Amino acid sequence: MGAVDIQGVRKSFGDVVALDGVELSVADGENVAILGPSGSGKSTLLRVIAGLEPADGGEILIDGAPQRDVPPHRRDVAIVFQHFALYPHLTARSNITLGLRHGLGLSKAEAESRAVELATRMQVEHLLDRKPREMSGGQRQRIALARALARRSGVVLLDEPLSGLDAQLHAVLRLEIASMLRAAGATGINVTHDQLDAMAMADRIAVIHNGRLEQVGTPDELYARPATLFVAGFIGSPP
Ligand code: ADP
Ligand code: MG
Repeated sequence: MGAVDIQGVRKSFGDVVALDGVELSVADGENVAILGPSGSGKSTLLRVIAGLEPADGGEILIDGAPQRDVPPHRRDVAIVFQHFALYPHLTARSNITLGLRHGLGLSKAEAESRAVELATRMQVEHLLDRKPREMSGGQRQRIALARALARRSGVVLLDEPLSGLDAQLHAVLRLEIASMLRAAGATGINVTHDQLDAMAMADRIAVIHNGRLEQVGTPDELYARPATLFVAGFIGSPP
């Protein structure tokens, strides 16, 4: 299960208003893209959902339960960071199993078996004994995805998971991520500044600008009926 309700979330850093009353309900199993330019508040929103950043106001609910007092490792949430955030001194296998053993409390055998299962699905099983520096960017991102999906969380948060990949790998992983989230039955919240990624991966797109959601709708709705000039410009449809 993984319905996410974002209710009136506000967050400022000094004078900078990063999130200005964000409201969004994501259904269990739905895949939503948060689309907006650099600095619009996308990463901050994911960090608030994951519990890595306290909100100044508002509430996050997961399956109806307020998350205010739930620490990050107790939330039914996995996050894939923009720049992989793998531990450089650990092998891929240990990167995947560490959180499973110490965060989720799985046995060594169960954690290892999940690492092999997910690495196999991501086609990086042969890299499990390598360290991050011995892998390409695309391989590291597959390990980071395997680590997130191995948690079997109801909610998977992805922060620009395709940035920095070459065009071919970008196109391949875009489809793989979307289909893996569906196969896992997980709710996906996928942050991107790339309208084509959002269009290709998401059931619905939420366009964010200066910490506010400008419009939420299906890719077709946003393209055919953009609510604001900003959305029209960003989606690329005529105003
Ligand atoms: P995006 O991910 O859409 O590029 P961010 O959520 O990273 O945007 O940032 C939104 C705004 O909040 C930006 O103006 C950014 O500079 C600011 N910001 C984000 N994190 C911090 C922080 N830890 N300290 C100060 N300002 C921050
Ligand atoms: Mg960001």
